[in-house]
Amino acid sequence: MTAITSPIDGSRLADVADTAPAALEQMFDLAMAAWDDWRRITPADRGRFLFETARIIRSRVDEIAALETANCGKLIADTRREVLRAAACFEYYGGYADKVTGTTVPVDIRFHTYTTREPYGVVVGIVPWNAPFIFAAKKIAPAIAFGNSVLLKPALETPLTARLLGEILAEAGTPPGVAQIVCGGADVGAAMVSHAHTALVVFTGSDRGGAAVGAAAAQRFVPTALELGGKSPQIVFADADLDAAVDGIVEGFAGSCGQMCIAGSRLLVDAVIRREVTERLAERVGTLRVGDPRDPATQVGPQATAAQAAKTRDFIAEGTRSGTLVAEAEVPSGPSLVGGNWVAPTVFADLPTDSRVVRDEIFGPVLTVESFDHPDDALRMAHATDFGLAAGVWTSDVGRALGTARELRVGTIWVNTYRILNDAVPFGGIGRSGYGRENGTEAPGLYTWPKSVWISTEPGVPPSYRKVVE
Ligand code: NAD
Repeated sequence: MTAITSPIDGSRLADVADTAPAALEQMFDLAMAAWDDWRRITPADRGRFLFETARIIRSRVDEIAALETANCGKLIADTRREVLRAAACFEYYGGYADKVTGTTVPVDIRFHTYTTREPYGVVVGIVPWNAPFIFAAKKIAPAIAFGNSVLLKPALETPLTARLLGEILAEAGTPPGVAQIVCGGADVGAAMVSHAHTALVVFTGSDRGGAAVGAAAAQRFVPTALELGGKSPQIVFADADLDAAVDGIVEGFAGSCGQMCIAGSRLLVDAVIRREVTERLAERVGTLRVGDPRDPATQVGPQATAAQAAKTRDFIAEGTRSGTLVAEAEVPSGPSLVGGNWVAPTVFADLPTDSRVVRDEIFGPVLTVESFDHPDDALRMAHATDFGLAAGVWTSDVGRALGTARELRVGTIWVNTYRILNDAVPFGGIGRSGYGRENGTEAPGLYTWPKSVWISTEPGVPPSYRKVVE
């Protein structure tokens, strides 16, 4: 049994039992049986279940957002947006369900050769604690739209809204076993990955977790997609619109209290404007309002877990020891917030380039500042990490924007904006940020496999393929 605690004041929200091994076994059997029926119904009919799920989510947006904020500590405006994005995700894949087609391939007039896209069967989805509802939706919706059944596991600490999504899917009439929610930690996730019925694993989490999942899945030759962490640069050139850039930088590192895989946590700024940018940042960060995420005036909430808050504070202590403190927000001290996971958004400069504050993913609201003298140095510094998830580029020169985007080896690049995502746009990383792509036209390639069929129109093996017997 896991006690689910509030990140706002440490109070107990619920007790949630891990899915026991015997129950997990039954769920896999049910998922396998359900899949055999689910894959046979028409794709358009599958889509209708997704549309109904989206309709129910929209009708309960306030309730779901409040629960997500209570469990994760995210701003209520953010969780509302995420719940609506989750509804949009079910609508997107509801509409996509009957638009996945195969091809006919004109190889030779003596054959009718065609391809189809086949669902894998039982998909295992595993998601982290920073955005459980939207991540659960992003695994479940495409998996079932394209004819799979799915077992989805949220993180141990934040299972509440994913469990609610399971109930909503049932309320929408989705047949039992098509989409099930499993509860527990890494041990339960590992059992799911290694299960004999698992045909595909879609994982979002840390690089450490992803490496373990990838290695375990490889033992059974099960394909995986790994959406992992990042240490994304925000590159600000001297010709940038600094008002917009400073907004984007603050949103990019302190949004969601820094708990974003795409956090723009490394500022690389042209030396010519470094002073002006850091002064503006110090002013903005110093006045950020950290506090109760249920209050609409709050700009930064707590960290989702006490362990993550302790980790972030440890990085801040390291930054304070070895760098220069550029800016720091205040943590709240009201009596109702005692016991919450409060961390101050903090900006450091002058850190050694090999400092772990500069190199490692923190997953908290910490920004490091480095400056460059030449644009080529900016690229070299951007690539001084094994991660390759995202980058921000701030410039008013369209040639520089295009050239920098061309050279950056990361999965997503935002120019003069940051932190915007959409189901229609492929998303994923390279290197230590993982492999595989979600969203848009990449989704059918992830959730189905291609089958090729050759039909002879002139029966028999073509003469040129016959073994010549003297
Ligand atoms: P984590 O890897 O510890 O856990 C993520 C999920 O995987 C949890 O549900 C956990 O129980 C499960 N898990 C962990 N080890 C496992 C194993 N060996 N086998 C099976 N399941 C296992 O990550 P976290 O600390 O919960 O989440 C934060 C990380 O997630 C950060 O690195 C962040 O960047 C990353 N993330 C990536 C994306 C993306 O789309 N690229 C999005 C959000 C978060």
